[in-house]
Amino acid sequence: MKKGLLVVVSGPAGSGKGTVNGMLLESEDYVYSVSATTRAPRPGEVDGVNYHFISKEEFLRRIDAGEMLEYTQYCGNYYGTPLKEALEVLESGRNLLLEIEVEGALNVKKLYPEAVLIMLLPPSFAIQEERLRGRATETEEKILERLERTKEELLTLPSYDYVVYNHDGAADRCADQIRAIVLAEKSAVSRHPAAAVQYFEN
Ligand code: 5GP
Repeated sequence: MKKGLLVVVSGPAGSGKGTVNGMLLESEDYVYSVSATTRAPRPGEVDGVNYHFISKEEFLRRIDAGEMLEYTQYCGNYYGTPLKEALEVLESGRNLLLEIEVEGALNVKKLYPEAVLIMLLPPSFAIQEERLRGRATETEEKILERLERTKEELLTLPSYDYVVYNHDGAADRCADQIRAIVLAEKSAVSRHPAAAVQYFEN
């Protein structure tokens, strides 16, 4: 069966990954992996759409039951990718979009080396800070925590396959770039190991 591509998009807070991924999801070729989290919903977030908001006890139960493809702790909360839903999407041939942080992304790559890891970045650290302060949905303490975390996140960049810069107002260009990456990856000879044999058979 034709399998979909596992596409992981990570990005520090303020990289605009929600906006860019929203654009990718306008096409039926992409399905968003709704993560489970123990963090409280932000205003406007909907259970089952943005996240499955669950208790810590339930999260730990799901880990024990082997129901998570990957999970991590980030700024004091658990986040994880539900395994069953992920496999169903990939089997259906559609691309599965994971919007997850770096530790989870590296775990995905270990388990599924065929996954494509894309890092979305603001143009600079200074612009990232401006964006976070402008967002004003979080406390100063949280903002500083997320900026500090960015320094660690950037250390993992060499393990990623692609980097995409999100300049102000250029989310649509980022989405185009990611669609181009996915198209190119799908044409990689390594993803078509039987191509030569099939060429003569069909
Ligand atoms: P936020 O609280 O801002 O929604 O997410 C915090 C971080 O957790 C973001 O970098 C986000 O991409 C990441 N994240 C969301 N869901 C998952 C998940 O299922 N697994 C992992 N490893 N990270 C996640």
